[in-house]
Amino acid sequence: MENYTVITENDESEWDDQTGVLYHFPNKYLNHLQPGTKVIYYKGKIKNVSYRNKRLHDAPHYFGIGTVGRVYPDSASTKKDWFATIDSFVLFSTPVLAKRESGYIEEIPTNKEKNYWRDAVRPITSDIANSIVELTSLQEVPEADTNDAEQGLVSSYAEGAATKRYVTTYERNPELRRQAIAIHGTSCFGCGFSFEKHYGEHGKGYIHVHHTKPVAESGERTVDPVEEMIPLCANCHSMVHRYKNKTLTLDELRLLQAPPSETHSDCIFCRIPEGREIVAENYYAFAIRDAFPVSEGHTLIIPKRHIADYFDLTHSESIAINELLKECRDNILKSDKTITGFNVGVNAGSSAGQTIMHCHTHLIPRRYGDVKQPRGGVRGVIPEKQKY
Ligand SMILES: [Zn+2]
Ligand SMILES: [Zn+2]
Ligand SMILES: [Zn+2]
Repeated sequence: MENYTVITENDESEWDDQTGVLYHFPNKYLNHLQPGTKVIYYKGKIKNVSYRNKRLHDAPHYFGIGTVGRVYPDSASTKKDWFATIDSFVLFSTPVLAKRESGYIEEIPTNKEKNYWRDAVRPITSDIANSIVELTSLQEVPEADTNDAEQGLVSSYAEGAATKRYVTTYERNPELRRQAIAIHGTSCFGCGFSFEKHYGEHGKGYIHVHHTKPVAESGERTVDPVEEMIPLCANCHSMVHRYKNKTLTLDELRLLQAPPSETHSDCIFCRIPEGREIVAENYYAFAIRDAFPVSEGHTLIIPKRHIADYFDLTHSESIAINELLKECRDNILKSDKTITGFNVGVNAGSSAGQTIMHCHTHLIPRRYGDVKQPRGGVRGVIPEKQKY
């Protein structure tokens, strides 16, 4: 017997789930949202009219149906929340109002008359579910206006029956793709590349999604979008599939972009003391505040690999450091309105002033009037040459 559950989508929610892709919920509803449960989406009465154009109706109504795919603990939550992937979601062509002339469609138990609607997740019988669906029709799924679901099918690595089927069946599955992107985001797991950052609005939402398990080991229904579907940029994805008989793992791909690192026990940037806050981080680099700041907010961007010379950074490390420079700059500006400029600098070699032989880039906030004559900026590394 199939289980049916009504799930509420609030206009304003702490989770901001994409309808029909993911659904976050508190632990108390876990029993009602097991894999395979049919879910009918519900919206309560409108509270803020600015959401009017995103709803089918102002009054409480049902508006779509799907099936719970997989359920995961929400690692970002401190309250034991969960989230579910939603499969085969279809919107209703017209809203089904929760209250009809004859009364509510849902049966309200007499002991719950006062607080029935407070529960965002409500199990219902199959009869009630059917009567909701009978009052509307299912919308035809509109054809996407992008070729995103086609990506990943590149002839050079679609050779050989297994590979071809694999790419076709898994990486072109638009539903798994949407779920994986909702979970992981659209930045490349290999190199951090973001199509939106690079190409603006035109690139927004674009990313390849790579399936990490070979086809022989899993059937379509068992694909786990958290563990097995990872976002990769087109370049990293091509490199992963470059050789027919050897698909790279994510770790192998990353090793190509930054050689294995050796931790130096006597290096203070290889072993950041406990309690020292990491203010930003990505796969190849991290940022901390300088222990002896030149100005308030002085931040260091440091590659995770122990490498002395800035010029020995790999391309991926350079990009990662640059990304963190911008991220830190944005955050510092947001929290401190007195900042009016920045110096960015690297000391490469002891004659250039480098004292810690683990490469680091300085991000130094500047404020109007912090020195009498700022003219020349980093030219001041040779003080008598700063002014020109
Ligand atoms: Zn990449
Ligand atoms: Zn792939
Ligand atoms: Zn080091």
